[in-house]
Amino acid sequence: MIIKDRKELEVKCSPVSVKEGEEIGVRLLHELRESNNGIGLAANQIGINKRVCVINVKEPLVLINPKIVEKSKEQFIFPEGCLSFPDSKIKTTRYQDIVVEADNHSGRLSFSANSKDINDAFECVCVQHEIDHLDGITMFEREFKSEPLVRGVNAPKKIGRNEKVTITKGTESKVLKYKKAEPMLGDGWTLSI
Ligand SMILES: [Zn+2]
Repeated sequence: MIIKDRKELEVKCSPVSVKEGEEIGVRLLHELRESNNGIGLAANQIGINKRVCVINVKEPLVLINPKIVEKSKEQFIFPEGCLSFPDSKIKTTRYQDIVVEADNHSGRLSFSANSKDINDAFECVCVQHEIDHLDGITMFEREFKSEPLVRGVNAPKKIGRNEKVTITKGTESKVLKYKKAEPMLGDGWTLSI
């Protein structure tokens, strides 16, 4: 049973031993497989308020007591969903690159959306989304709000040719440089900003 109550999901999870974390990880991966379309799940989404989450984009990944220890200045906008809120699809702002430490991984884990493979962006966003869950933060708190159009000094800056943007067409989305995305706009692709 996946918890869908926002108030319940706003509780911060507590640290866990690696042994207990591994058991929770197995349950989470099982729930995630049952969900069919999910790519990540945090323990508090199944009512266990412990710091364990799983991500399954390229391969199954269990994170016990994960912490983001480095993040890039660069951020990007990405279409996001959540198993706890199946009817909501929103655009969020996420860090382009992050480095994570977790008690069940000896080395540091790096995730970057700055890649030709869209799965890298999904994985990078998913890790941030799941770690947020453990801190009682839902995707709604990361929602990208478009700035009101202001002319003059506060006018939003033009998108740079080398700036990364997210474009979407139906359920498909890609992250790529604006100069590559620009010719595709109008061909059914729209800019996600
Ligand atoms: Zn979620």
